[in-house]
Amino acid sequence: MQTAIGVDLGGSHVTAGVVTDDGSIKVQHELDLTDLAFDKVVDAVVTVVGQALADAGKDVAGIGLGSPGNVEPETGAILYSPNFGWKDAPLGATLKKRLGRHVFVGNDARCATLGEYTFGIGKGTQDFALLTLGTGIGGGFVAGGRLVIGYKFGAGEVGHHQIRPESGFVCGCGKIGCFEAQASGTGLIRHAFALAPSFPRSVLLDASRGKLSSKKIRKAAQAGDGHALAAWKNYAIDLATGLSNIISFVNPEMIALGGGVASAGQFMLDAVKDRVDALTTMVPKGTTTIGIAKLGNDAGQVGAATMVFRGGLKTSAP
Ligand SMILES: [Zn+2]
Repeated sequence: MQTAIGVDLGGSHVTAGVVTDDGSIKVQHELDLTDLAFDKVVDAVVTVVGQALADAGKDVAGIGLGSPGNVEPETGAILYSPNFGWKDAPLGATLKKRLGRHVFVGNDARCATLGEYTFGIGKGTQDFALLTLGTGIGGGFVAGGRLVIGYKFGAGEVGHHQIRPESGFVCGCGKIGCFEAQASGTGLIRHAFALAPSFPRSVLLDASRGKLSSKKIRKAAQAGDGHALAAWKNYAIDLATGLSNIISFVNPEMIALGGGVASAGQFMLDAVKDRVDALTTMVPKGTTTIGIAKLGNDAGQVGAATMVFRGGLKTSAP
């Protein structure tokens, strides 16, 4: 059995796990990030990876790391990351030097896709998509058994295809009505606020408005609250639009939904299924399975380690 270190680098903390080649995480170490300067983040990664390496023992195949941003897989350079404010940051090369081991770096959402595809609900498929519905929408595609990277490493940035350019919410990227602005967890909250004038006595708005979470809305919708149900319905319409677009872009066998909102499970699948089918035209209706991701927050670490087991992410045909 092979072992690798899978690292999930986020904007607030970094987690390193000892991952075996059956996709299970044996031990995890985590460190909060208080300073996002490149050198400080490298120090934090070296610390948690050092702890994981000590647990893993001698035979470690390598280190895989998923980072937010546009990542050049051959060198592991972060070409652009708005989360960290980095440009052309030589993360892979720096870590390789500091750790004295081979380090593979990929985009965090692509790593999660690879993890979910290899060991989660995507196992056994060849054409797969993962959408993580959280603060934003992270995504990735596998086509013909291979993670799609794209010409300039941007394939899978589905969160920023516009679905409501005329009337949608403003996206963090500056465009209007991006899939992420409409259908992430944050999007659900925005749908609830947009409907607030129609529900002046809504219990959702009783508490401090700043504390309204997607979880609260989802639970209220499942309990039958009128305001929450209306927000959920508008949210589901936008989610279904994006899902049907993805079906026409890459025709996956399965689209897995992950992230906090997807814990609604069947309630969410029921809300989108008919509309996705109605919007699916040139692909046989109902042939793409929409399911709930299985690996949760572990997908990034497992996928990062999977990069190591696969010998890195290939940008050209073998
Ligand atoms: Zn956007």
